[in-house]
Amino acid sequence: MPETSDRSLPQNAPLFVGVVVPVYNEAEGIEAFHALLRGTIDPLLERFFIYYVDDGSTDGTADKLAALSQSDPRIRVLTLVRNFGHQAALTAGLDAAEGDVVISMDGDGQHPPALIPQLLTLYRAGYAIVQTQRLDDERVGLFKKLTSRGFYWLIQKMSNTPIQPGTADFRLMSREAVEGLKRMREYHRFLRGMIPWMGFKTVILPFTPTERLAGQSKYSLRKMSKLAEDAIFSFSLLPLRIALISGALFFILALFEGVNVAIIYLQGKQYLLAPGWASLMFVSLINGGLVLVNIGIVGTYIAFILQEVKQRPIYMVREDKNRGNPAESR
Ligand code: UDP
Ligand code: MG
Repeated sequence: MPETSDRSLPQNAPLFVGVVVPVYNEAEGIEAFHALLRGTIDPLLERFFIYYVDDGSTDGTADKLAALSQSDPRIRVLTLVRNFGHQAALTAGLDAAEGDVVISMDGDGQHPPALIPQLLTLYRAGYAIVQTQRLDDERVGLFKKLTSRGFYWLIQKMSNTPIQPGTADFRLMSREAVEGLKRMREYHRFLRGMIPWMGFKTVILPFTPTERLAGQSKYSLRKMSKLAEDAIFSFSLLPLRIALISGALFFILALFEGVNVAIIYLQGKQYLLAPGWASLMFVSLINGGLVLVNIGIVGTYIAFILQEVKQRPIYMVREDKNRGNPAESR
């Protein structure tokens, strides 16, 4: 059972909750999502304000969001200049969101709004972060399931930060946790690692993902690989260590070879050193390959450093609708 907190807030006082929803080309399903969300939050005592972040959609999502924000005063729409990616869009929403707590979730219906009351209950029980975890589901394709499992297995082995398998960017964060995260302005962002890194008191809430309301996944293979790369190179120095170890192994091998040749010379058995083209070629190829791979690994870290030192903004906002004071429309 969760421990109770010493938070000064009366246990049942209604909370002000910011809900952050990044969307990219979700025109087909966004209205259904909003209706679903409203259906869950309307009966609750808490006061909600919803932050939609349009991550450079090109399919009419912007018009749908504009219409929604006309009819619902509790919506703020941030439109990014272009598609900056899910993690950047989430960051834009978390930066903008007010509230005692902030909930982030996908806008495609796969993160069931029905879980929101449980997120709030766990917050009230004293957790600063309520992190949901996707349970395996038959509807998730085999490819996604395998790549996701493989990725989490790898990142858990490689990183010192406790990154739970199957965690989703569907979570509740307390105000303190959001403020903590806002101080982490890194360009390559893997929020599922950055948030546990902070170390706030966290509870995991497993859930079964629901069907997408409409359309296709917006996480292309390229986007998935970029996320995995950001996670691995920002949360682990292990690749560098592998480079060092493999380099060291070849160095030791070369030493042995040197000693071996020296002994042969000392014994006057030079005739034994008949050319072994195949074995030489083999070693040379492996060595060349390893050197290139290792330069690549070092290069990737340097590229990451380059992008960090530029200190470019993580996203750029083109339009910010209904900016007004969310507190007034509580
Ligand atoms: N998304 C985004 N920017 C992107 C890709 C996706 O804001 O570049 C949004 C998308 O609209 C959805 C959420 O991020 O609300 C998760 O994406 P999706 O459902 O496509 O990923 P999946 O559930 O397939 O992993
Ligand atoms: Mg989805």
